[in-house]
Amino acid sequence: MSDTATIAPNKVVFIHYTLTSDTGDEIDSSAGGPALAYLHGANNLVPGLEKALEGHGLGEVLEVTVPPAEGYGERNGPGPQTVPRSAFPEDAELIEGMAFLAEDNEGNQTQLWIAGLEEENVLIDQEHPLAGQNLNFKVEITAIRDATDEELQHGHPHGPGGHNH
Ligand code: ZN
Repeated sequence: MSDTATIAPNKVVFIHYTLTSDTGDEIDSSAGGPALAYLHGANNLVPGLEKALEGHGLGEVLEVTVPPAEGYGERNGPGPQTVPRSAFPEDAELIEGMAFLAEDNEGNQTQLWIAGLEEENVLIDQEHPLAGQNLNFKVEITAIRDATDEELQHGHPHGPGGHNH
């Protein structure tokens, strides 16, 4: 019998979480929706949060502060750049915080984020919007189960709270 009361590699873990900034603003939360499912040990979460959850058990509530280096990275780029909205396809849905892939002249793809929207322009950034920030998580562990072979191959959980494909 394998232990499904403790978080360890190759377990699918369900968590409810609230993420707040250092100024106390709520950035993201699973409240009101299904618990988030992730595969432990597969880099589904930012490294600092995954590390903090290791070894904890079902029903536990944790408060974890993840520094930028173990979250979305330090901020060291030039900051957001302004491009005209016309640089995007007309039917593109532009949402602040959204990630998208852009291609340079050599055909290399890089991930960019929309840092802000103005009437005529879009602010784009090559760094994640949460780069350079402490991530303050409050996490409740609501379920733990063994991953299936297919989930281990894919590197993510399937079913409710996970991938559907
Ligand atoms: Zn899959």
